[in-house]
Amino acid sequence: MRVYNFSAGPSTLPLDVLEQAQREFLDFSGTGMSVTEISHRSKPFEAIAAEGEALLRELLNISEDYAVLFVQGGASTQFAAVPLNLMHKGRADYVVTGNFAKKAFQEAKLFGDAQKVASSEDKTYTYIPDVDAIPFREDTDYVHICANNTIFGTRYTRFPETKAPLVADMSSDILSRVIDVSKFGVIYAGAQKNLAPAGVTIVIARRDLIADPLPACPTMLRWKVQDENKSLYNTPPCFSIYMATLVLRRLKALGGIAEMQKVNEYKAGLLYDFIDASPFYTNGVVKEDRSIMNVPFVTPNAELDAKFIKEAAENGLVSLKGHRLVGGMRASIYNAMPVEGVQALIAFMKKFERENA
Ligand SMILES: *Cc1c(COP(=O)(O)O)cnc(C)c1O
Repeated sequence: MRVYNFSAGPSTLPLDVLEQAQREFLDFSGTGMSVTEISHRSKPFEAIAAEGEALLRELLNISEDYAVLFVQGGASTQFAAVPLNLMHKGRADYVVTGNFAKKAFQEAKLFGDAQKVASSEDKTYTYIPDVDAIPFREDTDYVHICANNTIFGTRYTRFPETKAPLVADMSSDILSRVIDVSKFGVIYAGAQKNLAPAGVTIVIARRDLIADPLPACPTMLRWKVQDENKSLYNTPPCFSIYMATLVLRRLKALGGIAEMQKVNEYKAGLLYDFIDASPFYTNGVVKEDRSIMNVPFVTPNAELDAKFIKEAAENGLVSLKGHRLVGGMRASIYNAMPVEGVQALIAFMKKFERENA
């Protein structure tokens, strides 16, 4: 039986996409072979990869000034690729709003003068610093932010205006809301939250910024090389790219990102409104900064949290355990989580509250 899966990542995928992949699994595009068995240089695979790139460009309105890359290594490899491609002066500013933002910052310190210019660590990352008051330094190569903080359930509702190119980790909110790509130098995202199975990472990078990677940058991490080779410098993660293309087709058919954003805001609104009205459940994030993708919450105590997670799973609502750094529960409600899944969660939360308050 399918359950409602609230996992933070890898995460639930649309049922119709999984069913299509299942139908096509033994015979992809009339080849008589699985998409996992054919050459990445074959016509059918090249077509699916090209379609994926074109759909991403269309859905996010990405101009030809930007490279759109499908690479490997996860967002965590991009923590190193960012400085290795961009840190010409050896200086970059980092805003540390969570665990992944901190990891990105620490990785950049391996390569140059990375500085933490603002942080919300003082209040266990329950807010986003005022973007207009961040003391960015003069003359840096870039500013790095994490757009949505998967573990702590915060997000930027407004992005900082920076002189240096803005680089954003959008692993857990890419394609969930309308963004203006032209405001960013680089956007990157591991696919396994909101797009596809683990294995592929999206990089959207302004071409003028990536022309000249640092001499020590490994070939595989050179965005310019990946761009020149249409992300086929070596064998790409074929199955994940294929799945990403199916998800992107579905997004387009559903009306694109603006439509997705509406549904996501509706889903998150249902859940936050219920939590805020309840004396039993609490979400500790500053309201303006709440993520519409990851919703952490707690009951009055840790024993009840554990009981909640166990009984929810028995009722077909799984992977609700919060990250070990935060505890409690976390409902990840990415694009692929239907409204019905959120409604079922709220119905269970009501019942649990009646029985345990
Ligand atoms: C999951 C996540 C990462 C880490 O992604 P990997 O692909 O596992 O390296 C980085 N940043 C954010 C915002 C994430 O949600």
